Amino acid sequence: MIRIMSGTARMPYNHRVSFRTLAMSHPHTASPDNPSRRHWLAAGAACGGALLAPAIARARELLPAPKNRRVVIVGGGWGGLSTARHLREQAPGLDVVVIERTSAFWSHPQSNKWLVGLDGGTTLTHDRQTAAEAFGYALLHAEVIAIDRDNRQVVTAQGTVAYDWLVLATGVRYDYTPWFGNDRRAADFARRNYPPAFIGAEEALALKRKLEAFTGGDLLMTVPPMPYRCPPAPFERACMIGWWLKTRKIRGRLIVLDPNPPALGFDRIFRQHYADQIVYVPQATVKTLDPFSKRISTDFDTFDFTDAILMPPQQASDLAWQAALIGRDASGAPSGWAAQDPLRLQSLSDERIWLVGDLIDRASFLFGHYPKSGHLANRLGRIAAGQIAARAHDKPLTPGLPDSVCYVHAKVEPLEMIRIDTAFRLRGDGVIMQTVKQHYDPNPRGEDAAWAAGMYAEFLAAPR
Ligand SMILES: Cc1cc2nc3c(=O)[nH]c(=O)nc-3n(C[C@H](O)[C@H](O)[C@H](O)COP(=O)(O)OP(=O)(O)OC[C@H]3O[C@@H](n4cnc5c(N)ncnc54)[C@H](O)[C@@H]3O)c2cc1C
Repeated sequence: MIRIMSGTARMPYNHRVSFRTLAMSHPHTASPDNPSRRHWLAAGAACGGALLAPAIARARELLPAPKNRRVVIVGGGWGGLSTARHLREQAPGLDVVVIERTSAFWSHPQSNKWLVGLDGGTTLTHDRQTAAEAFGYALLHAEVIAIDRDNRQVVTAQGTVAYDWLVLATGVRYDYTPWFGNDRRAADFARRNYPPAFIGAEEALALKRKLEAFTGGDLLMTVPPMPYRCPPAPFERACMIGWWLKTRKIRGRLIVLDPNPPALGFDRIFRQHYADQIVYVPQATVKTLDPFSKRISTDFDTFDFTDAILMPPQQASDLAWQAALIGRDASGAPSGWAAQDPLRLQSLSDERIWLVGDLIDRASFLFGHYPKSGHLANRLGRIAAGQIAARAHDKPLTPGLPDSVCYVHAKVEPLEMIRIDTAFRLRGDGVIMQTVKQHYDPNPRGEDAAWAAGMYAEFLAAPR
């Protein structure tokens, strides 16, 4: 079923534009684990697109030919919606289409508070249609199952959408292979029963239900190896769960297995405030994990757990792999992330594709990856929009640098917060440098909620 809406909307920067929303209902949008979708993605990844060719040839074009050049943005999250909003502002002559598989926007920022009932969660979900109408772009509700770079079109189960330029902002995927190899059953079982809650609303809801049902014992949480989205998020989540266990007087503990070097600030907070609730084990790489018998081993220890939040390693999303946009590490192996020109955000494999948000590869040999945050994805969206606008107007592409702000709740009663500011600048030889400043705030006054409200207003057109 396809639904097209059209009309005009008042833009915040004072001119009227037409908008179009095209909603498609089909089985693939319901679950990212749909087997049919996996087949397409696997076929594309396995053969570099060759198997897809006959199917694509038969597919129909979903949208009428645009009057102007068209930018297709795949992914309606922080990065994709920010790109769309700024593109409409900076290049109003371009036809902009956002394609997104989920029906509503879900915000991970601020969700750790909601997980333990400190926030009602009313600001976490947003209707994307409001933004599409306010900023004047088309919104297509569909799952993209392949990118056909040769013919410059994206492929959905219902048909294709042609593009002049493509923005890929599809976020991350989990990589269970270091734990389970090719054992799909174990990976599916782990994701279903021990949701990492790093992708999408469904997992977050499942984790909330899990916490509400937890009555005691050892709750085990694995932190992903770096890089992963929002590095402080697992530790903030641990603080929230520590507080939850303490205030509800639940006879249980949270065991945090972290494969990375010790997170010293959080280690101190855990020991000072949650000594009876949190056991933090840094440099603990998972060696074996049996999700069925609930047993996990590191180099040094074995734990039997009552319940778990199993956060596996992360990589760029499926589409970046299918479209062969993944970079290489120093040894020549796939880096796991979509390789981009760090200052222009164009894919290194295809100059018609821009890469925005958590899926990108490292930005500098000095610090590696940009922090994978919503704030930073928003800034990358703005930079990519500027690059595409310059290209559309035949102007040179000028380098752009983002910034990042992250608010982390350290303690609940009384509330204490850490604000992490990350700035970037160019060294004389063109290499990006990073400066990180942490501010400890023992007396916060809603700065995190104000930041989130500002962001939602900016790219979701949410009322403040
Ligand atoms: C618990 C937690 C707390 C966090 N806290 C903060 C915080 O306080 N501050 C902060 O700045 N960041 C925070 N983050 C990080 C932030 O959520 C991410 O960095 C941000 O979402 C990245 O934006 P993105 O656009 O790259 O990906 P996403 O926002 O995940 O968007 C990707 C979109 O692409 C869609 N998509 C994927 N594949 C397809 C396909 N094939 N077809 C169609 N659509 C597709 C997805 O459905 C999704 O909507 C937190 C993350 C977590 C997990």
